[in-house]
Amino acid sequence: MEMPDKPQELSAYLDRHFTCACGREHYASLKRVSIREGALKDLPKFSKELGFHNLYLVSDPITYEIAGKACMDLLSGAGIQAKIQVLQHTGFDEATIGELLFNMPLDCDLLVAVGTGAINDMTRFFSFRTGRPFFTVATAAPMDGFASSIGVLNINHLKTTVDAQTPTAIIGDTDILKGAPYRMIAAGLGDLLGKFTCLCDWKVAKIITGEHYCDRIVELVESCVQNVLKDADKAVDRDPQVLGDIMNGLVLTGVAMSLYGNSRPASGCEHHMSHYWEMMFEQKGEKPVPHGTQVSVGTVLMLKLIEALRRGKIDFDAARDFARSYQEADWESEIHSAYGPAADGIIAMEKTAQKNEVNAHLNRIDEMEQHWDEILSLLEALPSSAEIMNLLRSLQSPCLPQKIGVDKDLLKKTFLYSKEVRARYTLLQMVWDLGLLDTLSDEVIKECAED
Ligand SMILES: [Zn+2]
Ligand SMILES: [Zn+2]
Repeated sequence: MEMPDKPQELSAYLDRHFTCACGREHYASLKRVSIREGALKDLPKFSKELGFHNLYLVSDPITYEIAGKACMDLLSGAGIQAKIQVLQHTGFDEATIGELLFNMPLDCDLLVAVGTGAINDMTRFFSFRTGRPFFTVATAAPMDGFASSIGVLNINHLKTTVDAQTPTAIIGDTDILKGAPYRMIAAGLGDLLGKFTCLCDWKVAKIITGEHYCDRIVELVESCVQNVLKDADKAVDRDPQVLGDIMNGLVLTGVAMSLYGNSRPASGCEHHMSHYWEMMFEQKGEKPVPHGTQVSVGTVLMLKLIEALRRGKIDFDAARDFARSYQEADWESEIHSAYGPAADGIIAMEKTAQKNEVNAHLNRIDEMEQHWDEILSLLEALPSSAEIMNLLRSLQSPCLPQKIGVDKDLLKKTFLYSKEVRARYTLLQMVWDLGLLDTLSDEVIKECAED
């Protein structure tokens, strides 16, 4: 089947093989999604349609009350055999795995995660390791990891990324989602707002480095984020329609990652900032704010940086001088001071990625100079930082770095070095390529301090 040239409903992209004008094939294995008022009723329906007869539900005491009990009633009403485990061991570690295994009906054919975050990660992993598929019944939508195929668990007291699987169905009942705390709603919206900068990353990368690009996937994600943004101010009133749209957007961006085969459609410079903060907080033994909240702050910072870039004039010859002045040994010692114990991995990655290598850098400057008008029109199409900040403020969500524990020193390092966490070309790398990252980030840091 041909990948649709106009964005369609999410359901049109599930479990279908597409050929695409971009030259690649796209496939997402997720089979069913229901996000609506009363969507819980689709749990027995989807189970029957997909041939599951014996379900093992996973909840904690809170999600049991929010949705687990209602799921069990619906399943028993539909004559489907089901057991629910209300977790007593909620460390999401070896003890939780043991509890799940000990209580699992031997003949169950489907796991169901009732919850978000850790419950999902655990069920994603547990179902994978016991060779069964799983569904997600979401109780909140704070990030776009629903369709992810990895999980994060506490193994040997360490946060560990484990291989897992993507869900077969995702259910988001807006009657339940509207009860989620504001900080979770704002985090979900924040993760979605990050798509503006992340898609812009991809568009400039296509021009500057010739990276492979799929405009059908970009348009799909873009149209859904625009759709959410137009009514996002109603999120503060817990408008079920808007909360459903946010969750739909988060599931859809997850599907877009599956379709493309990596996280390019959903993670860019704003996520690199968040990854860097996660690493730094972990090194200090501190707990960072939720992922989506970090992403929303990263998005605001990037929009401010691009606004600062657009205020000035670009001197491509000065950029060339900057490129030629690069000293690998100096860069390495800066990375040691910015990344601490994580520096070796970053330095090893650069050895293969060669993002900072002088000739490639000079070539990118040539491309930018040739296509600057085109790049500028992409930057002009971004929403303003003020618009995004107002939206986040209406949800009482932090939108400035100092509100999430990022001080001036860490902020400067974030601007200069967070681009090094991945080999992916982003707006941060572009501003660095132009030799302007140091001066423009100072402008933004000053602005943030005054806001
Ligand atoms: Zn994210
Ligand atoms: Zn494509």
